[in-house]
Amino acid sequence: MDTDLQRVAEQLNRAQRILIITGAGLSADSGLPTYRGMGGLYNGHTPEGLPIEAAISGPMLQRDPALCWKYLAQLGSACLGGKPNQAHLAIARLQQLKPECWVLTQNIDGYHGAAGSPPERLIEIHGQLQPLYCQACHAQDDDLAGRLTQPLPPLCSSCSGVMRPPVVLFEERLPEQATATLRRELAKGFDLVMSVGTSASFPYIAEPVRRARAAGGFTVEINPQPAFLIGQVDVTMKSRALDVLPQLVSHTFVDRICKSN
Ligand SMILES: [Zn+2]
Repeated sequence: MDTDLQRVAEQLNRAQRILIITGAGLSADSGLPTYRGMGGLYNGHTPEGLPIEAAISGPMLQRDPALCWKYLAQLGSACLGGKPNQAHLAIARLQQLKPECWVLTQNIDGYHGAAGSPPERLIEIHGQLQPLYCQACHAQDDDLAGRLTQPLPPLCSSCSGVMRPPVVLFEERLPEQATATLRRELAKGFDLVMSVGTSASFPYIAEPVRRARAAGGFTVEINPQPAFLIGQVDVTMKSRALDVLPQLVSHTFVDRICKSN
């Protein structure tokens, strides 16, 4: 076995409090485009001449809901058209094996939940695409797929208000509950922090890695093109999550079964 893989599997086996941080690279293997966790539909400007950050922003949803929804709908279709891959499944399996293993994700596709990650140990820091809710009366609608086949923006069936997904749009604040949970768990500390397929240098992604390292924890980055954590982690694996995580988790599993016999 690859020595890095073996080293990480041993550390995973030993660690109790584990944090897996995931980004767009993980879902890229499910066919989703990468773009700062929001789907890489446009890596520059929209046909309207707007940066995608302006099109999918909180202010745009208020000013021109139809335009904002044009791009939200593309994200929605991309996410609904894919499914969790073997790396999502491996992470969920690791969480079943390790009762103090948490996932912090920037992804909004819902694939961790679909793969079986326990909701009480899943922090979706950028929110999720479903269920839609009415900005005026807060009525919910679970049928995103159905709504995408109808005229946009989707309107509330009770009050005709504009519906929106519970996702963090550009220029919006992170969800209060998710940030509070993250703060609480970071304060307890983690033995091992692993960053998977994320190249975003958001402080709330980089900080857990730095904190774990400063406290003597073990840190790992899995990314085909590691960037912002170079030199700041114990092991860098230049690989796709899909190629490494299933192996890593099965080795952790096998080790544990062997030791318990
Ligand atoms: Zn309403």
